[in-house]
Amino acid sequence: MAEEKREFQAEVAKLLEIVVHSLYSNKEIFLRELVSNASDACDKLRYAAQTEAHLTDGDGEYRIRLIPDAAAGTLTIADNGIGMNRDDLVANLGTIAKSGTAEFMSRLSGDAGKDMTLIGQFGVGFYSAFMVADTVRVVTRKAGEEHGWSWESDGKGSFTIAEAAEAPRGATITLTLRDDAREFLETPRLKSIVKRYSDHIAIPVIVTEDGKDETVNSASALWTRSKSDIRAEQYKEFYHHAAHAFDEPWLTIHYKAEGAIEYTGLLFVPGSKPFDIFHPDRKQHLKLYVKRVFITDQAEELLPPYLRFLRGVVDSQDLPLNVSREMLQHNPVLAKIKSGLVKRVLSELKKKAADDEASYAVFWENFGAVLKEGIYEDFERKADILPLCRFRSTATEGWTTLDEAAGRMKDGQDCLYFATGDDLAALKRSPQLEGFLAKGIEVLLLTDPIDEFWVPAVGEWAGKPLKAVTEGGIDLSTIKGDDAAAGSRPEPAAAEAVETLIGALKLTLGDAVKDVRSSDRLTSSAVCLVAESGQMSIHLEKLLKAHRQLDGGQSRVLEINPRHDLIKGLARTVKAKGREAIADMAWLLLDQARIVEGEPPADPVEFARRMAAVMAGGLTA
Ligand code: ADP
Ligand code: MG
Repeated sequence: MAEEKREFQAEVAKLLEIVVHSLYSNKEIFLRELVSNASDACDKLRYAAQTEAHLTDGDGEYRIRLIPDAAAGTLTIADNGIGMNRDDLVANLGTIAKSGTAEFMSRLSGDAGKDMTLIGQFGVGFYSAFMVADTVRVVTRKAGEEHGWSWESDGKGSFTIAEAAEAPRGATITLTLRDDAREFLETPRLKSIVKRYSDHIAIPVIVTEDGKDETVNSASALWTRSKSDIRAEQYKEFYHHAAHAFDEPWLTIHYKAEGAIEYTGLLFVPGSKPFDIFHPDRKQHLKLYVKRVFITDQAEELLPPYLRFLRGVVDSQDLPLNVSREMLQHNPVLAKIKSGLVKRVLSELKKKAADDEASYAVFWENFGAVLKEGIYEDFERKADILPLCRFRSTATEGWTTLDEAAGRMKDGQDCLYFATGDDLAALKRSPQLEGFLAKGIEVLLLTDPIDEFWVPAVGEWAGKPLKAVTEGGIDLSTIKGDDAAAGSRPEPAAAEAVETLIGALKLTLGDAVKDVRSSDRLTSSAVCLVAESGQMSIHLEKLLKAHRQLDGGQSRVLEINPRHDLIKGLARTVKAKGREAIADMAWLLLDQARIVEGEPPADPVEFARRMAAVMAGGLTA
């Protein structure tokens, strides 16, 4: 078959341009990436050969070779792993298959400095070869297949693929080094890079010089070594390899579980938020090994989705080596490992939270919203997870806990109050909070979508019910608050005038409201909307509508502030002139309350007409 020329996927072309044109501060990491890929390829073949032994016929000793050739100006990285066929080459080295890539690319700004930090998180993997090479040539043959293939590119928009006359199993990647990258032809330089980034790789990395081979790395799986022999740097490099990540791990957990079930865990909590952490598939990312043989990085039953921020490996002694991915479903050994991992991770988080509040806040800001999914998905452990949770609140600037909030409850307060919304600043100014703020009663401010789900499921903390401030019928008068503002509050309108106004509003608004009530929760606002207790919260309704899981909405209770000048004026007008005189204003009040909730007016055209009419009335009066 003749050579075929193909274009890179648009995202790859863009990435390559950035990689080549922005000076990467440390170019040497290309070697880490290529060695990491070679090691993954060997791992994959080792797993496949468990069930198809013939795949490794004639060559069962895995190794990665680095061959500098000063005369030709090339550096070759050769492995005898799984290799790639034609389709693999097109898919793996022509596109980026990672979920969320398109969205990620759209965040690139064109500003090289900023983009490089972003790409650092994303990882350029194979494409980093173009930081040091003018051309990259891959010759490869997939294990078990007869024909080999070659792939070649100068990284400028296209690549060519052709059948290779001769190709050993695995992948051989030859870089024609750029003039400014000839340092990577020097053996000592290569050795030190391998030592630095790839020592933890479990497969020998061999540098060949003058026909002589030298194994440069320790070639034993890092997690099998004893903790005291491992330096922080080595953990970090292993994290980079295992997680395909480039940041510092926030937490490293390395332990050996002994007893009924034996396994080793080397787990990391990343120091920054992976860009796809909220991808709907909610996949976990730990790699599963059995007696040092890589099995899969897709063992969904190894870890619950709410710990999907963890990276690293779990190596089991108790699963059979030839375990198939299907056998991992509903596997009792895996279930026990999972419960051991969850327990361990939660207890390590607890320690971190107790030891270093500031550092824990970093974790919480990255992954709190994920961890909170566990409160209602892993209901049995909610008592372990809830104390790990941190909240924004009207009582403090920073983060707080449920226990702390419970400790600040006022005399006569029998619930912990919370408000939900999608924006902290807007939430703090919400009219529903006015009465609470005036009395100094604490309200927890919940801004993650997940809060709408776990709070009703949990219902209470330490015997204190969790109650939404938007619930109707909250009576703050029985709570002894700070009452700084209470003395200066204006007198309410007369009860009977308020009753008449409420009657008029109900008649005018009809089914658009569930009820109209006078309320003490407002201080500076005239009205607000609240949910009947047991009704879906306004914020949840908005979330569901945004995800098209709900059309229409329920009507709400309109609460009015009898101390507000506008309400007093309306009450007088109704009494003097009857209901018709305030019809437009009644609808405007409802729309205003909707707008404050972040919802559009029920009928924008009518809203504008009424607004104009009322304004015109104000001018002529
Ligand atoms: P990642 O390693 O994060 O998947 P890379 O850009 O490093 O991303 O590599 C892309 C893909 O190309 C790999 O997932 C793998 O399928 C394939 N690949 C890269 N190098 C090799 C290799 N030496 N042998 C076999 N496949 C490889
Ligand atoms: Mg890679």
